[in-house]
Amino acid sequence: MAYYGRRGPTGQPAAANPNSNEFLWSIFQRIDVNRSGELCTSELQRALSNGTWTPFNPETVRLMIGMFDRDFSGTINYQEFTQLWKYVTDWQNTFRQFDQDGSGSIDRHELKNALMTFGFQLSERFYDILVMKFDRQGRGVIAFDDFIQCCVVLQTLTNAFQTHDRDHDGIIQITYEEFLSLVFSLRC
Ligand code: CA
Repeated sequence: MAYYGRRGPTGQPAAANPNSNEFLWSIFQRIDVNRSGELCTSELQRALSNGTWTPFNPETVRLMIGMFDRDFSGTINYQEFTQLWKYVTDWQNTFRQFDQDGSGSIDRHELKNALMTFGFQLSERFYDILVMKFDRQGRGVIAFDDFIQCCVVLQTLTNAFQTHDRDHDGIIQITYEEFLSLVFSLRC
């Protein structure tokens, strides 16, 4: 099982300056297999590494394209790619920080540490639900791509809840259609 510990988001060996334009451009060109100047979902999915031999979660790829596709072309140009790259690299550092036993995955205890550090206050029961939901590979732990998905979805849902929870008491009262509108308006 590959662990990307000393490697960048695409699994390539870490370079001396992994954020230099020259380095990023060379990566972009390698990922852009059909030389269109834009990265599509499948090109990005093939390029990204979750640290195992399984394909990067397509939902995480879609989520990131939704975040960084500023011109709404449905694909990622070089400018957008530099932002996406930084985002994935930052997540990689976060993942390594909370993968305390260096196993290359996040277990329940590590997830709890991470989410508490991010400021979430969740019950023990809810961590079980999260691991069950985001353990896409059925290993009882969460891989890198699924960890990003878990944190981003949790934050998006929390933000949506908080816009309704005006008195910050952790309780909201909404109608059936307000609930549906809320869920359908989310990009996650
Ligand atoms: Ca671990």
